Amino acid sequence: MSKYDKSFSVDEENIPSECPICGNDLLPTSEYIDIHYHADGIRTVLYCNNGDCNFKKVLSYETNKDVEKSMSEEDDEN
Ligand SMILES: [Zn+2]
Repeated sequence: MSKYDKSFSVDEENIPSECPICGNDLLPTSEYIDIHYHADGIRTVLYCNNGDCNFKKVLSYETNKDVEKSMSEEDDEN
């Protein structure tokens, strides 16, 4: 079974504030975050952009199903 069958996200306390490889400060801003389609959903990845350091950490993943669900829940509130 794939890790990406279900939505998940890492706890905030588990998000590194600096790169464990090169020590670069990692800020959870768009500069350091990449959001892209992966499998059947959307994956958010924190990455280090310091030179050729290629540290990456997946912060969250949301399946298309859950994206649709949260969108329709928002509609219900309106
Ligand atoms: Zn780094």
